[in-house]
Amino acid sequence: MTATATFKALVLNQRDGQTVATLATLTDADLPPEDVLVAVDYSSLNYKDGLAVTGKGKIVRQFPLVPGIDLAGTVLESDAPAYQPGDRVVLTGWSVGERYWGGYAQRARVRAEWLTPLPEKLDSRRAMAIGTAGLTAMLAVLALEQAGVRPDVSKPVLVTGASGGVGSVAVALLAHQGYRVAAVTGRPENHDYLRELGAVEFIDRTEMNQPCRPLEAQRWAGAVDTVGGRVLARALAEIDYSGAVAACGLAGGVDLPTTVMPFILRGVKLLGIDSVLCPPEPRRAAWARLAHDLPASLLEQMTQIVSLADIPALAEAILAGQVRGRVVVDPNL
Ligand code: NDP
Repeated sequence: MTATATFKALVLNQRDGQTVATLATLTDADLPPEDVLVAVDYSSLNYKDGLAVTGKGKIVRQFPLVPGIDLAGTVLESDAPAYQPGDRVVLTGWSVGERYWGGYAQRARVRAEWLTPLPEKLDSRRAMAIGTAGLTAMLAVLALEQAGVRPDVSKPVLVTGASGGVGSVAVALLAHQGYRVAAVTGRPENHDYLRELGAVEFIDRTEMNQPCRPLEAQRWAGAVDTVGGRVLARALAEIDYSGAVAACGLAGGVDLPTTVMPFILRGVKLLGIDSVLCPPEPRRAAWARLAHDLPASLLEQMTQIVSLADIPALAEAILAGQVRGRVVVDPNL
């Protein structure tokens, strides 16, 4: 494409206080003045994209904005010495799709420091099947490992919001590492799907959502929590002595109605997970582990491919907890 070539994008604007998403045709001159121009092969839909595209969360900091908090593709032009045309790259976080233009377009101009070289074993489609959700799941699993939660312990590891994007990747990663995985889901119709990803036990979301005592029976060696609220509080109360919970989400709420008891009487560790500003080194390490540890067949099983035009409806659906697994966005469809 020449500099004046046109490309497709989903653009958010505000009208009468409402966020409106429109498919638009843009040129390179419309893109922000960052240092690397990328041909976007794929982006993905994450919970935060749902908040941004529907306007239901105060995610977008400037309009107009091309949303999409992650992307994978090939460098077309670069003013940064670290990247050359033809380099394969992946981008997640750094407020892209919130403050800066993101991946729901055929082209993006981004800062070199936001990019991670794509590991050799991953193509851009697999990279976005993983996407922000999968990177977050990997960071959570790494945090549990660093906290001493090992696959050989007798008790299972809990994953909440299991049929969502982060949850699905966490189930597959943990099961593949040899952990026994208990999946918390509000959708019993997804049990077979979760079993195929490696879950061996199922906990009903409403059961996890019941108010609990500060300490309950010790059921879990560790947990990856994508939900927050009472579900996280119960997970903490049910973690084994010296176990750990990696908390990365708020799909069920931002409150944490707990006490200090799990921490001071059982040495339970609460590990915060942030993928957005995760520094380059642990980010590369997490991508390398994902390339190595996440079976391509399981990733394929949890992934659907959609077009830019499909995004507004799916943004509503992901906030309603109706999306299963990962949604890859192909801007070239
Ligand atoms: P998804 O919507 O794909 O997954 C969330 C899952 O949570 C749903 O599929 C559902 O699973 C469950 N759920 C939905 N609503 C509720 C509810 N009210 N109460 C309890 N469970 C609920 O989102 P993602 O996987 O993309 O993201 C999950 C969370 O992680 C989000 O809060 C997101 O903001 C956060 N996140 C954080 C990141 C970080 O860097 N810290 C990065 C990426 C995501 P089921 O039907 O199986 O119960």
